[in-house]
Amino acid sequence: MSDVTSPSPSDAHARPTPLELRRISPAEIEIAWSDGATLRYRAALLRDKCPCATCRERRRGEQEKRDSAAGERPLKLPVLSAAEAKPLAIERVRPVGHYAYNIALSDGHDSGIFPLELLREIGQHGP
Ligand SMILES: [Zn+2]
Repeated sequence: MSDVTSPSPSDAHARPTPLELRRISPAEIEIAWSDGATLRYRAALLRDKCPCATCRERRRGEQEKRDSAAGERPLKLPVLSAAEAKPLAIERVRPVGHYAYNIALSDGHDSGIFPLELLREIGQHGP
């Protein structure tokens, strides 16, 4: 048996894994990946991409609002709750098995499970 004859692009070996997780500031973490990439994650970005049910619902609601408001757009400032108006911080990062991180944010969002694949996708290269 040779590896060449069995193409499996989703092979676990091809998937980069986090080697190190560092906190850069209250609102930013950095992950060093096994393939050499170092990517950064801001609290606001994580909040925006949070895959938890609450955030998916919220994003869907906003999308529907945008869709139905197309054409007639009232000029209104978005109303921020007290929690949203505070600068968002990353409170806790906890590994979930070998495939995801549970990331808790300072606005009370602590149920977001971020699969490694998603983190790879949304990470931003540092300066
Ligand atoms: Zn969420």
